Amino acid sequence: MSVLKDAYRALRAAIYRSLCNCCGTPLNATCSAKHLIIIAPHPDDEAIGCAQLIARTKEEGGHVSVVFLTNGEQAHCHCCDIELTEVAKRRHLLSEQIDKQLLHVDNIVRMKWSDGKLPVEKSELEICASQLADHVRKLKEQYQDETSTLLAPHHEEGWSDHWSANQVAQQVAQRLNLPLLNYCVWLWLSMPYNKMWQCRWRNVHYVSGYITTKRQALIAYQETAPCGKPWVGLLPRVVWRAANSKREYYFCV
Ligand SMILES: [Zn+2]
Ligand SMILES: [Zn+2]
Repeated sequence: MSVLKDAYRALRAAIYRSLCNCCGTPLNATCSAKHLIIIAPHPDDEAIGCAQLIARTKEEGGHVSVVFLTNGEQAHCHCCDIELTEVAKRRHLLSEQIDKQLLHVDNIVRMKWSDGKLPVEKSELEICASQLADHVRKLKEQYQDETSTLLAPHHEEGWSDHWSANQVAQQVAQRLNLPLLNYCVWLWLSMPYNKMWQCRWRNVHYVSGYITTKRQALIAYQETAPCGKPWVGLLPRVVWRAANSKREYYFCV
């Protein structure tokens, strides 16, 4: 049964990616920016979703800021009894090392909100959006002469934290009048088939190139905990394969 389920998921992901391939156009200068502000629910989402765009932006002389909403401390909660603080510390260190040394990210901000517990209620989302907007405003002001673009996970990513990050980022983008791009981490695995018709495939843009840098970042994030699984948790095969493929896809909002 699980073999059939895996085959179904792989097929569904292949259909989504084919649609991106057919309808998508290269992410060009009108849609990309000189300063990227990436909202990442957990340390590793920025690399899985945006490493190629980060590398390209840096090579073109732009700037990149990453805002981590949580430290991803719950990655081993259904796996082993390792302390949450230890997981948080390791994911913090890994993201410092990978983002600063390998991807040359200019700024890292850590909100330190609770992993797995980002708000879903409207009033709580608004409070989070206010806090996040303060940080994003400061980052934007650092590069006043450059266009800033906000990036956040797609709303069909499946995980509650990724959905909340999308909602909060939408509010921040509206408040600060910033363009918003949605990146994909779990979409290939999580988006239900019936949502395919609602997806705006014509708004898809892609980045190619810089795949070696991205793969180095992905592999560096696979450092293992004592239980044998990566500190960031085990990525399902569909997600891993999509992350390692040659094109990175974005939805223009
Ligand atoms: Zn995540
Ligand atoms: Zn574990």
